[in-house]
Amino acid sequence: MNDCLFCKMVTGDITPDVVFENDEFLAFNDINPQAPIHVLIIPKRHISTLNDADDALLLGKLMQTAAQLAKQFGVAEAGYRTVINCNAHGGQAVYHLHVHLLAGRQMLWSPG
Ligand code: 5GP
Ligand code: ZN
Repeated sequence: MNDCLFCKMVTGDITPDVVFENDEFLAFNDINPQAPIHVLIIPKRHISTLNDADDALLLGKLMQTAAQLAKQFGVAEAGYRTVINCNAHGGQAVYHLHVHLLAGRQMLWSPG
């Protein structure tokens, strides 16, 4: 999609701080990190929200990529949090499906 921020990162029109890339996924550091490690993992194919994700294999690989990156960052054993925000009430700001990988500090549960 032409006006999608994360699609521009896939095409290289915007260059994020990439930490991982393969044929299907791109992962980069969040510009406004909420933890010592805050990585966004996106499918290269534009999918607006989790509601639009009809490819179970792709979703599975997306989550496996998050776990793989946690291992690479050395935080898998200590633990980490993965988050997918969906639509307005979910707090989604960028409408290209992404998983937040947050790690490096104790996460506190917050329903807000
Ligand atoms: P959402 O609220 O949609 O789940 O999260 C969007 C995330 O994208 C936010 O954590 C925000 O900091 C991040 N973000 C927004 N614009 C940019 C950008 O230009 N570059 C990077 N690396 N992250 C961004
Ligand atoms: Zn997109």
